[in-house]
Amino acid sequence: MADMKHLLIRICLATALFSTCTVSVTQAASSAVILMYHRFGESDQPLTNTTVVQLEDHITALQNGGYTVVSLADVLAALDGEISLPPRAVAITVDDAYRSFLMTGWPRFKAAGYSVTLFVATKSVNAGYSDFLTWDELRALQQEGVEIGAHSHGHGHYPLLSTTSLEQDLGQMAAAFDRALGTVPRVFAYPYGEAGLSDMAAVRAAGFQAGFGQHSGAVGPLANRFYLPRFALNEQYGAADRFRLVIGTLPLPVKSISPADPVLQSHPSTITLNLVSPPQNLKDVTCFGPAGDPLQASVYTNSLSINPISSFPTGRVRLNCTLQSVDRSTQGRWHWFGWQMISGFESEGVAVHPRYR
Ligand SMILES: [Zn+2]
Repeated sequence: MADMKHLLIRICLATALFSTCTVSVTQAASSAVILMYHRFGESDQPLTNTTVVQLEDHITALQNGGYTVVSLADVLAALDGEISLPPRAVAITVDDAYRSFLMTGWPRFKAAGYSVTLFVATKSVNAGYSDFLTWDELRALQQEGVEIGAHSHGHGHYPLLSTTSLEQDLGQMAAAFDRALGTVPRVFAYPYGEAGLSDMAAVRAAGFQAGFGQHSGAVGPLANRFYLPRFALNEQYGAADRFRLVIGTLPLPVKSISPADPVLQSHPSTITLNLVSPPQNLKDVTCFGPAGDPLQASVYTNSLSINPISSFPTGRVRLNCTLQSVDRSTQGRWHWFGWQMISGFESEGVAVHPRYR
């Protein structure tokens, strides 16, 4: 099937039928849910931990619910229209390369036959902290099939860095990967999921294929390739009911958002989502602000206009819009679009760099 799609695209590109083919390719492209874990079985760190019981329950839910775990590379190929994904495709990512991934997480994912992408911040590994995996261990994991992704060098908040520091960080990271693994990853996860437009541009310019945040939502062909969502899982958000809900989610076909830059210049009086061929029941969408508070939204044919009346708190803030599907083939599943912004020019008490003002 994948070969057929490849062939179709090659024929399209080689002929004058490109406009017709673009429609076929877009329809053939699939959606996926990307999960993000950090630690496993480390109950003293509940904000980043998933318990062993939860993890085993997640794997059971994936195995019994008709899901197919795919690699992140396959998700990106599908977003490019190069391959089709199965209807319930899920990709697994793990951030930071904590030791508990090797000891507790990977053996269970491996036994289930699942692909995993591990996003590594190189400075922590270079430093040899006992909590983190070593380069030898990462090489061994790579040989077992774990894809290594990039997660910066110093794990800093990118919007807080000057352009020079940001480029230095990307350069040090690439050098460390090259030295230790002989290759530089092609996918990048922003530390804390924080990125403004210029950070995304820098990651793109450094040669990466895609950038990942830490906001919720399913991915589809229209998603911003340098700010892709991932569902964060921890002890609180990894509960069985929520897990079963998120793995079944579908994208909302959002083409663009305004304001476009996640580093906000002021409190937005309106946030506009522009959609392409939205679900027929778009009027039933509900959007939530950072405190989980429902936001007033005006629904138009191809757009949503959201009015956050009260001010956002300073720091990372998230917007979530959800809509239950009424289509026969996906009935009961939820369309989910999420977005993370930085409000008040500050994150965790530190000012964003003046390049954003
Ligand atoms: Zn991290």
